[in-house]
Amino acid sequence: MMHLQQLIDKVNEENSRLAQGSKEDKEKARQRQKAVNKLQKHQEKLKEYEDKLDTMGFRNSYSKTDPDATFMRMKEDAMNNGQTKPGYNLQTGTENQYITNFAFYWNPTDSTTLPSFLTLDQTRWGKLPKEVCADSGYGSEQNYEFMENNGIEAYVKYNWFHKEQHRPFRNDPFRMENMYYNWKDDYYVCPMGQLWEQGRHKKSVRDNGYASWIDTYRAQRCEGCPLRGQCFKGKGNRTINVNHQLKRYKKKAFERLTSERGLFHRSKRPVEPEAVFGQIKTDKQYKRFRHRGFPKIQMDFGILAMAFNLQKLIKNVGKDQIKAVMEAFSTLFGPLLASLWTLWGKFQKEETSVNKNRQLSNRNLIAA
Ligand code: SF4
Repeated sequence: MMHLQQLIDKVNEENSRLAQGSKEDKEKARQRQKAVNKLQKHQEKLKEYEDKLDTMGFRNSYSKTDPDATFMRMKEDAMNNGQTKPGYNLQTGTENQYITNFAFYWNPTDSTTLPSFLTLDQTRWGKLPKEVCADSGYGSEQNYEFMENNGIEAYVKYNWFHKEQHRPFRNDPFRMENMYYNWKDDYYVCPMGQLWEQGRHKKSVRDNGYASWIDTYRAQRCEGCPLRGQCFKGKGNRTINVNHQLKRYKKKAFERLTSERGLFHRSKRPVEPEAVFGQIKTDKQYKRFRHRGFPKIQMDFGILAMAFNLQKLIKNVGKDQIKAVMEAFSTLFGPLLASLWTLWGKFQKEETSVNKNRQLSNRNLIAA
């Protein structure tokens, strides 16, 4: 944009010089001026596009009616055509059906939101949770790594968690997960007994900047193998890409999820966050935000979360106990609050009389 303006200024400067010259120079200047006028029209449009890109930031879309909202696919798809609507990805943390944390994200996928969500949890509560239970949408290498580095026990499923427990999966010798792997010498052995040595060791960087290391293993000679039809359908020798770090995290997650504690968490998950969502969306009919813009929707949901938690507390603890707590609070802090209120009143009165005196003396000065 700056460059374009500089160019226009330069051409204008040259044109004013040419306008003083011969007939040919004047004609040249006229033609140039025409081109500059055309360019200026485009410059305005270019500025408009740049402003729009600024509003969009690192997202891939935004809504004109709420620039903070991003277009994403919703669960409610009345037209059944996968239509996108402007919205926010709301993440909530719950404990015993109380909302303990919430945050909004522009990214419609859950997998990248967990580290920042847990960091926010630490800011709110002064510590990180000891255990985290989440569905398979959160089972990514980055999330497992974050939880491991922060001493959090991850009861988080991964995409193949249920499938890999089924017999057809477990009994398939051609699946990479079921092939023999030698950790010490770093090679795989296929069902035909061929040794697959490691080839490339490649860094793969995701959109959010997280880097993973992928190792490639290739069979030496698949041509003429009698098992080829069952093994793979591609051309040449079979190749597999392995993320060893993720494989290790998945193994750990599997052990945790199938342990006694893991079974407890898995049985509680459907009645924990899902129940909260159900109560908010169906019982309270809170399916849309009542405001627009990021700060306002934060306030919107924040008030709902407080009301939700209070209602739950009253239901769980009982009205009489809440009343007793409120009475105890007023007995303890009531006199203190009352004296503070009296002091505040006195201070306000004094302030008003000082201001009045000041105004009077100003008026006297003006009159004098
Ligand atoms: S096709 Fe290749 S990878 Fe598959 S079993 Fe035969 S030799 Fe091994």
